[in-house]
Amino acid sequence: MGYVNVIYDGHVQDVGDVGPFKNGELCGTTGKSKRLEAVKIWLETDLDLGIEYEGQIQDIGWDATKKAGELCGTQGQGKRLESIRIRLTGGDADKYDIYYGVHAENYGNMNWAMNGESTGTEGMSLRLEGIKIIIAPKGIVMSPDTVQKFIKAEPKPAAPTPVAPADPTGNLSGKIICINPGHGGSDPGACGDLRESDMNLTVALRLGQLLAERGASVVYTRTTDDHVYLSDRPIIANNAGADIFVSIHHNGSNDSNASGTCVICYPGSDAGIRLATLCLNGLYSRLGLQQRGLIQRDDSDVTYTDMPAVITEASFASSPADCALFQNGGAELEALGLLDGIIAYYG
Ligand SMILES: [Zn+2]
Repeated sequence: MGYVNVIYDGHVQDVGDVGPFKNGELCGTTGKSKRLEAVKIWLETDLDLGIEYEGQIQDIGWDATKKAGELCGTQGQGKRLESIRIRLTGGDADKYDIYYGVHAENYGNMNWAMNGESTGTEGMSLRLEGIKIIIAPKGIVMSPDTVQKFIKAEPKPAAPTPVAPADPTGNLSGKIICINPGHGGSDPGACGDLRESDMNLTVALRLGQLLAERGASVVYTRTTDDHVYLSDRPIIANNAGADIFVSIHHNGSNDSNASGTCVICYPGSDAGIRLATLCLNGLYSRLGLQQRGLIQRDDSDVTYTDMPAVITEASFASSPADCALFQNGGAELEALGLLDGIIAYYG
């Protein structure tokens, strides 16, 4: 039998090129929260063996198959590898197994994968941080542990299986409710996979429909993708004699993992705090996202309105996961959560 060594190097966030490494050595880092952005893998052997591999790259997905020594991943683009699969080719491939174990964000060391199996995560926006690769003659069993090998994000709940409508007896007749879809036109607000201004409008129009079905008079500050000055929005509500003002926004962050729900009201306003708390509870129970709480803040929408007012930030436009939820029934749940809060406010 001949010999075979597997050699690999990598490109690591903040570090740059590392390696080469050989036969099971760690390429990358563990416990340092640094992305592995790329790897190259090749063999030293006198056997008829070749190697092929594919990586799943942030924002790109599964990339084309690479052969010995080709770069899998990216450099200088700040994109993480999220998962990888590797296999042997050639006439002697049936005599050897290739094993690879990754260290993944939130999961740590994952079980060894082998012979083309995927390892890492998919659809969860989690980085690979390190990888070890070994080639062994067939018949050697690498690892008895039961850590899961490849973790795929659960598909998001499908479009609302007719979500139990909020209490249909909630009678809002005689109430004037002003809904403000934040941003619009030349001002998209926070942007990620979706534009905040579009998310705001979608939820606002649906919420308005639900409120109108229960007898409320609904006043909007905008119903199309138009620009409305921030300072004009409270005036629209004041002039309409609105009873409450609901300003619908979505959050943004440089950290694409930031997610969750918060609601803002004017500091010390008892009615504002009550409305905000009830909307927050409705959003928490419908969406089930991280609870970021009630924020009392001097902020145009809640400061210049004459009536109890809230700014809702149900989720993050900058979070791929929050956007995916929004597009898979989350927008409807958000409107229902706000409806729950408003009905409870008048209950
Ligand atoms: Zn906003």
